[in-house]
Formats: sequence, C-alpha cells, structure tokens
Amino acid sequence: MRVIKRIAVLTSGGDAPGMNAAIRAVTRCALAQDWDVLGVRRGYAGLVEGEVEPLTGRTVSNIMQRGGTLLGSARCPEFETEDTRRKALYWLQQNRVDALVVIGGNGSQTGALALAEMGVPVVGVASTIDNDLAGSEITIGVDTALNIALEAIDRLKTTASSHQRAFLIEVMGRKCGYLALMAGLAGGAEIVVIPERETTPEEVARQLRAAYERGKKHALAVVAEGAVHNGGKLDAWFREHSAQIGFDLRTTTLGHVQRGGTPTAFDRLLGTRLGAGAVAALMRGEQGVLVGLNEGRVATTPLKEVAGVRKVIDPELFRLASVLAQ
Ligand code: ADP
Repeated sequence: MRVIKRIAVLTSGGDAPGMNAAIRAVTRCALAQDWDVLGVRRGYAGLVEGEVEPLTGRTVSNIMQRGGTLLGSARCPEFETEDTRRKALYWLQQNRVDALVVIGGNGSQTGALALAEMGVPVVGVASTIDNDLAGSEITIGVDTALNIALEAIDRLKTTASSHQRAFLIEVMGRKCGYLALMAGLAGGAEIVVIPERETTPEEVARQLRAAYERGKKHALAVVAEGAVHNGGKLDAWFREHSAQIGFDLRTTTLGHVQRGGTPTAFDRLLGTRLGAGAVAALMRGEQGVLVGLNEGRVATTPLKEVAGVRKVIDPELFRLASVLAQ
C-alpha cells in the first residue's frame, strides 16, 4: 500500500453549504495522521495552475458555519481535455502529492475519475445541492437548499392566501427533480413539475384551478429548473392564456439564493462525516472511489459507477405528492 505523506484537497463545480465542514474534516483528520495538507484554490482551474496553500488546523478554524467554500470553486471546461489533466498530474507529481480529495458534484467526480484513470490516487466527496449524484443518497448542501426553498414556499403561501393568487416557484436542481419534489412534498405544493416526468402547462393550470375548486385559499406549483416546462416557459404560457385561466399567477425563481447562507446542522454533520470518511478511505488504501451516504452510513462507491450516472427519483414519492395535494 502506498504510504501517504501529503494530500491535496479541492472544491469544484457549484458551491454547496457544508463544503467548509468537509474541508475542515479532511484537513484535521489528515493532520491527525501526520500528513501534510495542501488546499487547492478554484477547483481544477487552480490545480492546473498550482494555486495552493498549506492548510493547518488554524486555517480551517471558524469556517463550519459559513456557506460557500473557503478554497473557492470554479468551472474549468478545459479539464475535459487530457492535455490539461496532464498538467495537473505533472503538478501533483512535482509537489509529491500522494492523494487528492475532490469535494464536488457529478461533473467534478467525472473529472476525478478521469484523473484516477491517469493514475492519480483520488477520493471524491459527494457535494452538490442538486442531489444528482449516484453513490450517495443525499449530498452535502441539499438540506440547506431545501430549507431555503421551504422558507420561500411558506412565505409565498401566506401572500397567496391573502390575495387568492396562484404562485409558481422555480427551484434549482439542474436535470434532477429531487429538490423540487422534496420542496413540494414538505411545502404542500398543489403540483410538482420535474424533469423526470413531462407535465404540460394545461395540466399545471388544471391542478391549480382544481385546488381553488376544492376550497383552497392558495394554489402553488413547485417547478424544477431542468423541467421541460420550467418556470420561464410556464410563466410565458400563463401570460399568454391568462384570459381563459381566470386567475393570476406569479412566478418566483429562487436561483442562486438557494446556495448561500448558513449550512444546516445536517449539512455540517454530513460534510464532517464525509470529509472524515475520505481520509479513512485513503488510510484503508482505497482510491478511485466516492465517499457518500448509503442507508445512513458513510460508504464508498467506485467512481466508475458514479460518474455521469443519473440518479433515479422515487416514483412513489412523486405519486404521494399528488395524493397529498388533494
Ligand atoms: P458539479 O461538480 O457541481 O456537477 P460541473 O458539472 O460544472 O459541476 O463540473 C465541475 C467541473 O468538473 C468542470 O468545470 C470541469 O472542470 C470538471 N468536469 C466536468 N465534466 C468533466 C469531464 N467529463 N471530464 C473531466 N472533467 C470534467
């Protein structure tokens, strides 16, 4: 088994609340093994340029309660080319880095797999608010994003009841409907629109009208940004057909508001457990794996089974959302 003396850690892709807890756990658990820790700035972009700083117990002090990432993140499309990844590999070898921890989502773990296939000992940590990453039933940042969406839904419901207005709220999630479905379930939406199921604008209008007919004071649709008919498309359709529909619809797009803010206790603990899990995996000699949560336990899954794989939404929960809307 390779002896580890120095590791590097980076955060990549969309920032997620709880990433800082993961950086802290990776750093302090590694230091406890007498390993050196290098923090790479700006994800893969910084790795290619060699933008690093040594991380100490003190550097990672007082960061757990902050959203975002201490190390910064970036999108680095060039990393999809082997030439760019070779630069990263060269830098890691030159600086005698024995292993790399990649904290990020689906795209970042695809990059991690590409590095692993070039011989870099890599361990991924499942972190994205979209929860679109196979290999972890829930990822760092999801819980905070969900709570922010819920707060917005609760507020919109109050104003919706006062004015008899229907509301449409668009939440993030890229091509995955998890956030929208869970926000809809926990927030009591009348209809949830997700990328995994096509829902027509007519159906959305029908469900919202049916809610009023059942005597509800409010009618609310939660829509995923990646749905075929996302917030923008539905908003345009409702404007065009407002005369026939007979009620007002207001659209709110949460967008990046969902990413910021203080991580919830759940995300701090998840970041902590998965970060510690990454160091534990390296101590066991594992590499080319993602550290995630499976059946409530910290577990590793080969990156090959994770990268680019689509996570499946539980159809039963989708059905339940519509039953509970009645
Ligand atoms: P996330 O990790 O949150 O899903 P992205 O999809 O934007 O975010 O991916 C983050 C970064 O991961 C990209 O900017 C790129 O540097 C790297 N990446 C994504 N896809 C690949 C790929 N197929 N090969 C190599 N690197 C990739």
